[in-house]
Amino acid sequence: MSHPLFDISGRTALVTGSSRGIGLALARGLAEAGCTVVLNGRDTSRLAKAAAELDGTGRVHTAAFDVTDGPSVAAGIAEVEDRVGPLDILVNNAGMQLRAPLLEFADADWHRILNTNLTSAFLVGREAARRMTERGHGKIVNICSLQSEVVRPGIAPYAATKGALKMLTKGMCADWGPHGVQVNGLGPGYIETELTQPLVDDPEFSAWVRRRTPAGRWGRTEDLVGGVLFLASPAADFVSGQILYVDGGMTSVL
Ligand code: NDP
Repeated sequence: MSHPLFDISGRTALVTGSSRGIGLALARGLAEAGCTVVLNGRDTSRLAKAAAELDGTGRVHTAAFDVTDGPSVAAGIAEVEDRVGPLDILVNNAGMQLRAPLLEFADADWHRILNTNLTSAFLVGREAARRMTERGHGKIVNICSLQSEVVRPGIAPYAATKGALKMLTKGMCADWGPHGVQVNGLGPGYIETELTQPLVDDPEFSAWVRRRTPAGRWGRTEDLVGGVLFLASPAADFVSGQILYVDGGMTSVL
């Protein structure tokens, strides 16, 4: 029998960037836990495919909008609340990665990665929190990264966005905690998805990940579900401003 502290059935959750990869796995987990889930992304055909994949797990909706664009976010959240109902849970997951040495990193790429990984969480978080704080409850989980803590050559802009997202998480906790909204982060280690496919396909890098991870393997998207369900549940009502690293132990060892 599951403990009532972990019961999130009947809640409504929006997961940004959930047409594939980590976001889709998190949405599936929330749906299986009894939530009504809203999938988000920009590509409507991929969203429809993702929704079909989740068919049978619960109530699944889609909302296509670009999380980097303020007016689209405002309209998207308003439309979701009108059509689906008040949001109880927001997972800010949409993100991207660009790998290049800093000296070769283009201005446009800098702005793109900053907008996609950091500004998006501010825009979607603010829009959702306006409503959550008014209602006096809500849970927000920002998908950070082990690179919120550590960085490797060639990935500085990505790590900068994820480090800043960690501090944005703590700032949201400070501002919205008094109004009943808990904000936490979840920091995945190396997880096999489309985003990391080039790294998975590189035998040397792939072996390095396995060697460096105490768990001895790459992460799977399902590895992240339990952490998000916990942070979205009443069991975490007094947990806020924390980053839970789900990385097979990688950030803890040299
Ligand atoms: P994927 O590239 O597989 O998926 C990214 C998702 O985000 C897609 O659904 C994409 O849909 C959506 N997305 C991207 N940009 C936007 C946008 N502007 N507006 C709306 N949706 C958008 O990535 P992962 O699943 O691997 O990563 C998900 C999150 O986890 C990211 O924040 C990433 O940084 C983080 N992470 C991943 C790790 C890993 O090892 N994979 C490790 C640590 C953190 P569409 O293109 O249709 O818009």
